[in-house]
Amino acid sequence: MKAGTIHGLGVSPGVARAPLARLAPPVVTSRADPVTEEPEAALARVEWALGAVAAEMAERAERAEGVAADILSTTSAMAGDPSLVAAAGEQLRAGSPTGHAVTLAVESFCAQLEAHGGYLAERVTDLRDIAARAVALLAGVPMPGVPAPGHPIVLTARDLSPADTATLAGSDVVALLTEEGGPTSHTAILAKSLGLPAVVGCRGAAGIPAGVPVLVDGSTGEVRIGADAGSVQLGATALAVPAAPGPGRTRDDVAVALLSNVGTLADAHAAAATDSEGVGLFRTEFLFLGRRTEPSADEQTEVYAEVLRAFGERPVLVRTLDAGSDKPLPFLPLGEEENPALGVRGLRTSTIYPEALGEQLTAIAKAARSAGRPVRVMAPMVATAEEAAAFVATARAHGLDDIGVMIEVPAAALRADELLDVVDFVSIGTNDLGQYTMAADRAAGALGHLLDPWQPALLDLIAMVGAEGRERGKPVGVCGEAASDPLLAAVLVGLGVTSLSMAPVSRPAVHAELAGLSVEDCVAIARAARGVGGAAAGRARARKARDERWGVPA
Ligand code: PEP
Ligand code: MG
Repeated sequence: MKAGTIHGLGVSPGVARAPLARLAPPVVTSRADPVTEEPEAALARVEWALGAVAAEMAERAERAEGVAADILSTTSAMAGDPSLVAAAGEQLRAGSPTGHAVTLAVESFCAQLEAHGGYLAERVTDLRDIAARAVALLAGVPMPGVPAPGHPIVLTARDLSPADTATLAGSDVVALLTEEGGPTSHTAILAKSLGLPAVVGCRGAAGIPAGVPVLVDGSTGEVRIGADAGSVQLGATALAVPAAPGPGRTRDDVAVALLSNVGTLADAHAAAATDSEGVGLFRTEFLFLGRRTEPSADEQTEVYAEVLRAFGERPVLVRTLDAGSDKPLPFLPLGEEENPALGVRGLRTSTIYPEALGEQLTAIAKAARSAGRPVRVMAPMVATAEEAAAFVATARAHGLDDIGVMIEVPAAALRADELLDVVDFVSIGTNDLGQYTMAADRAAGALGHLLDPWQPALLDLIAMVGAEGRERGKPVGVCGEAASDPLLAAVLVGLGVTSLSMAPVSRPAVHAELAGLSVEDCVAIARAARGVGGAAAGRARARKARDERWGVPA
């Protein structure tokens, strides 16, 4: 393969270069494989193999932390699901060879998840990983896994399963490169939590031979191959990101709080140990994704209080459950929906389950009292000022007093003036605001160009919200992935955004970028970004404007 540059979606920042290594391919099964045992004997072995995979995942979950641990527990539960054994049994009785019966059973489950779309469709990788492991056990061959050549590698695969990603900490892997996967795939979520640069949705990765040096830029999505990757020395790892001492500030000393996005207790403790200025988004639904029964008020109170205590003096912003669409919560069933992303989700679920919202707000208020700390609270997926006002009234009735809403729906951005009049602050969720502005499913890697947060239409909406916030002297945060792109962070500040919330791994680069720019610089960069010509042209103009301000020679 010739040297060159290919592109995917940069989903976890940082740059690393090393020889490419491919994930070992799973054992391929076929209907034509020989049938060597009776169906009942085969079924007993299938049950044993799936049980062994479930046990292995559970054991790994014990050793893992944060998001990785949660995902491995869910995978273990899927492997141990008796209906999977039952489905394999049906295939065996229909004459299928043993290994292939597992493949077919898993594929039928995958088809159901894919039909559902969104978050559930992304679990398909986990299910296929279960099948690959069980089939390897049944065939008596080594389990597929992450190569460990004893020197740094960039790991590539079609997509990565939680089992693979859970073994990455402390391994030889310095960056991830996958052919599939969207910005909310496991690879994206876990790479960020591990601080590994990652590019997903990069079809061209399939053609790179193992051993070829590659440079992966997890911020831009650029992948340089062979000679274009520069000189690769074994031992080369992700470029060191400078430390980020102290609070976020522009060069002219205007405060821009740089906060953390957290979804689990482990995330919160890890973020609290950094320079993070607080939590700008606590995705509470992440705590309860696999749960069939509603978490009790006491359980919720304990979790929220633990996060408040971990952050001490620093502010914590708790988002109420963002259930529905790509994040279904089994204990809040929403029925069949033709188009869940446009259906009942976020705050809308409280029209069906008002008591769940009430219970959560009670728990948040109780946690604040028990931790002796103030708490901020906001609702996701708010479309109108009436919804915002109703949420504020409910939250106040529960004893809370710093209350905001997320701006994730274009209607809310267009009427930001009305919304800001009834809330204490707003936080812009650029992931969803981008998806709804561009009518493009945020989990679809193939629509990455439309989901690019540099889309001028998205920036226009953010500008409207920023201007209205400034006029009223009310805080306007951004907690979507856009906040973690250093140059885009400067644009957001130029548009009137007052705080940015991101995965802790992104904070140092954003901190350094803002420290070199005045607010006036940010305004000029934002103006450049919003000119005509689309996302890529806007980004290029913004980069030029930024380099001129920094005095970087052309
Ligand atoms: C967003 O939509 O930008 C956001 C922060 O919320 P989530 O990613 O959890 O939907
Ligand atoms: Mg959202």
